[in-house]
Amino acid sequence: MSARPKVQYLTSTSSASSYSSSDSDLSSSSSVRHSMDSTQPIASVEVLRCLRCARAEEITSTDDPSSSGMVQIGTNIYYCNRCAKMTGYK
Ligand SMILES: [Zn+2]
Repeated sequence: MSARPKVQYLTSTSSASSYSSSDSDLSSSSSVRHSMDSTQPIASVEVLRCLRCARAEEITSTDDPSSSGMVQIGTNIYYCNRCAKMTGYK
């Protein structure tokens, strides 16, 4: 008679362990997502040339051109920070 509640306790333990295995699946899928982030920079390198002084600045396509010290004044037309200040673009 005392053995019966023991079996019921074992059954609830096995269902709890199957829940924890699905929980580890969750953490492994999040680590896959993290490795995808590190492979993301397949960026091409672009050279921005200042229209006035021909100063060239290399940036990757993921970079913001303004953070590289170049100021975009038109489609594929850039000034460096100095020339942008002199011409009043910045
Ligand atoms: Zn310039």
